[in-house]
Amino acid sequence: HYVSDFLAPRAEFALFREQPELVYLDSAASYQVPDAVLQRFVSYYQQQHANAHRGSYPLAQRATALLEGARTEIAAWIGAGADEVVFTSGATQSFNMLAQGLQLDWQAGDEIVLSRAEHHANLLPWQRLAEQHQLKLRWLDLDPVRGTLTDAWTDVIGPRCKLVAVTLASNVTGQRLPVRAICQRAHAVGAVCVVDAAQAVASVAIDVAALECDALTFSAHKMYGVTGCGVLYLRQSLQARLAPTLLGGGMVTTVTSSTSEWQTNLHRFEAGTPNTAAIVTCQAAMQWLEQQRQAGLKDYLQQLAQELRQQLTKRPWLTLLPQSDDGLALVSFYSEAVHAFDLATFLAEAGIAVRAGSHCAQPLLRDWGHEAVVRVSFAAYNTRLDSMRLCEALDEAYHLFVNPD
Ligand code: PMP
Repeated sequence: HYVSDFLAPRAEFALFREQPELVYLDSAASYQVPDAVLQRFVSYYQQQHANAHRGSYPLAQRATALLEGARTEIAAWIGAGADEVVFTSGATQSFNMLAQGLQLDWQAGDEIVLSRAEHHANLLPWQRLAEQHQLKLRWLDLDPVRGTLTDAWTDVIGPRCKLVAVTLASNVTGQRLPVRAICQRAHAVGAVCVVDAAQAVASVAIDVAALECDALTFSAHKMYGVTGCGVLYLRQSLQARLAPTLLGGGMVTTVTSSTSEWQTNLHRFEAGTPNTAAIVTCQAAMQWLEQQRQAGLKDYLQQLAQELRQQLTKRPWLTLLPQSDDGLALVSFYSEAVHAFDLATFLAEAGIAVRAGSHCAQPLLRDWGHEAVVRVSFAAYNTRLDSMRLCEALDEAYHLFVNPD
């Protein structure tokens, strides 16, 4: 369906109807939002908006039901129970909540293991925790040629390890990590395993039971939803070990002038007015994404990425970062001759949106000897025309920067 009829989904995005020439290849940073999903946001505010979990009048009760309905459906989508999913403002908030709130009886010298591919959101909160408790951060290295974990990774998760936090897929290379095996290894040494699904959620079907993780998070804006909604899965047994870090309305039962008693259910992790609009929009995005998946989106995007890789390989002034076939539909590259920022600026002037930089993953880039790379990422609205325009613009850049003859 997609390969022959690939222009169809593009028409569902107002942005591309209004700017048909725009080549948007930066979905890994934020996805564009299709009409049906955006319409859910609008209809919520037009017809259903009230403060959920607060009022007893019909509108407020309905808002509560909508919020809880979204929780149930999103939880089922990732193989979790409705009593295991907390809404946050995004993956970044989720990691901060975990790092600040997990009560794992930290002792000086305990270890936290991260992969070198982690986004800063799944690194800085653990760095601070390590400073506070004199913990040691240890690393799962990535092979610069294959892009995968180096063979000795299991040895890094040892007896002093109390927590492992890894991404399902690198947001720099798109390479997937063997997360189930990592979780199993973490559990074998008695550690908790946290998974970053932010980059993978739009591409990889998530099943927290199959992954055997204890916590997992992603942001709705990276799956055709709007900003302001994050999903945080917390395994039942982990909830008891997590202290609420955001305190305020909605998370308490009894409050006196000096004491307060927290809710015993998940609401203790959701202080303040919930972002019900973004949450029901996330549910709509999930439904839209599922429809596209049924129609063959994954194969289509893999094909786009593979074709682009082939095209770029024909341009020896560019070097591609490694990725295996099961990775995400993104392609990262650099040139020894032209700085990534210059390339991205040149492309921007040609109406092509890509991202250049460290992609909030500086340790990985530094390991591999780069300061910045260009990242091209595909989503449902992209077509072969986008790749063609990109290649043409890159050829122009070559003539301008590398070989003026
Ligand atoms: N992890 C990964 C792998 C990401 O790509 C991102 C977003 N760039 C994040 C975490 C953070 O997500 P957010 O900015 O939505 O909190």
